[in-house]
Amino acid sequence: MKRLTTVLMTLTLVTALAAVLLSLTLQSTPQLRTTLTQVLIVLSMAGLVLLASFNGRRGRMETVGAHRDTSKRDEHATCTFSDIAANEQALQSVTELRDYLKDPGKYVRYGARMPRGVLLYGPPGTGKTLLARALAGEAGVPFFALSGSDFVEKYVGVGASRVRALFKRARKVGRCVIFIDEIDAMGKRRDDSASDERDQTLNALLSEMSGFYTGDGVIVMAATNRIEALDPALLRPGRFDRQIEVGLPGRDQRLKILKLHSRGKPLNDDVSLEELAAQTVSFSGASLENLLNEAALAAAERDDGGIDRQDLQRAFYKTVAGADREMLASPREKRIIAVHEAGHALASRLLSPENRLTRVSILPTGHGAAGYNLCIPQERVMVEKRHLENQIRVLLAGRAAEQLVFGDDALTAGASSDLARATELASAMVTELGMWDEPAVSLKALNRACGAGTGATEACKALLRSQYACVKALLASQVGAVNALANALLEAESLDGDAATGIIDAHLSSERPESA
Ligand code: ATP
Repeated sequence: MKRLTTVLMTLTLVTALAAVLLSLTLQSTPQLRTTLTQVLIVLSMAGLVLLASFNGRRGRMETVGAHRDTSKRDEHATCTFSDIAANEQALQSVTELRDYLKDPGKYVRYGARMPRGVLLYGPPGTGKTLLARALAGEAGVPFFALSGSDFVEKYVGVGASRVRALFKRARKVGRCVIFIDEIDAMGKRRDDSASDERDQTLNALLSEMSGFYTGDGVIVMAATNRIEALDPALLRPGRFDRQIEVGLPGRDQRLKILKLHSRGKPLNDDVSLEELAAQTVSFSGASLENLLNEAALAAAERDDGGIDRQDLQRAFYKTVAGADREMLASPREKRIIAVHEAGHALASRLLSPENRLTRVSILPTGHGAAGYNLCIPQERVMVEKRHLENQIRVLLAGRAAEQLVFGDDALTAGASSDLARATELASAMVTELGMWDEPAVSLKALNRACGAGTGATEACKALLRSQYACVKALLASQVGAVNALANALLEAESLDGDAATGIIDAHLSSERPESA
């Protein structure tokens, strides 16, 4: 601003002088007129140079402006640890950080060094951001939040400049929490394809973090869903040296989260949160919160004073499969879909009875499926080979049922995602888990060590072929049950788990192939 005022004053002076000289030139002798004209030209040129330099400087100021700090400062991080249910271990780890933020001096007196950075890692929606925000809220300090992608820019140096601007701002504030979400966007493992821009940004972050002193009272937290993709430099001591896993909640933890988020929601007596917690295997905290909200929205629409079991069940199906859509299929297509879904349901009932069937439907879903089977998988810590084989067979059962009932020429595109998922599982079994002819070999590691050419593709195909043959033989022995369930689906369009299981069990043939 000061510079702008100086330039404007100089320009005004130059213009005034030029005006005086012009009037003198008009009234003077020819000799004096020549001299004055020359002075006038020199003055005009000086004015032009001054203007050009001002414009250039303004351009540079704008560029510097592009290096702005894009973080969002949350002055009112009002949430606290009481807004987090479950995640006990993660909470325990951050409690110490809260004490440090409240009184960093105490730690200096004891010569203790706080972790310079804390990395929260785990699947999406498990409460990583919530944890960081609650830490700031508990300690009563400002919260600066931004995403790793805010630093990713096309122009070299811009991301690095943003990092420096952010830390400068945080240092000015004093005690605070800086939270970088999706840090993998800026901190990916550097390899041959790494860009100069990303390298510079990452280096800027590392050097800013190294420059911290325990007494600063600044905690840098970051979150990622992909810790394995991060550059090892980020995880070295002195950087993100505390790593906290925030995993998917187990059944008891889901119940706690459901109880927390149902506070203030009028649940009817027929609602059992225990039942819902058992049903929502693999749900994250965010999905549970979303499910309860969907149910509350439906109840508000109906407006009869409470949220009932039906609202929660509908919200559950909607969260898992997407909202049911209108059926537009022709009668023949409808029959193919019904047979396909009946094949999945039957294979699941016979091969993985521990996974509880909760719904079979031939209504198209908001997630793009023509129909679906919903099973609640049993929670396991270890997965055995036979579980994976059965999973592949259940996935292939839709295609097998179509082929059995309608013949080879009637195959449809409806099995494409089943085939893709079955292939991914088979590939993991062959290349990573040693669950094929060579139980002691990880082909993936072998590939890394010795180069490609290990025959994984052929092994994968063979595995898929054999699983397909098994499930096809199983369904061939139970065509009566497949048709009975398909007919019931054509009539009702969707059946709950108990109804579908009842139909299957009533039509099961006692003859089963040995391979199944
Ligand atoms: P992402 O990895 O996708 O960024 P995240 O792990 O940071 O996700 P959050 O954004 O913290 O997840 O969680 C989203 C919402 O889910 C929270 O605002 C909260 O409503 C709910 N939530 C998640 N986990 C919990 C939990 N343990 N207790 C209570 N609510 C939770």
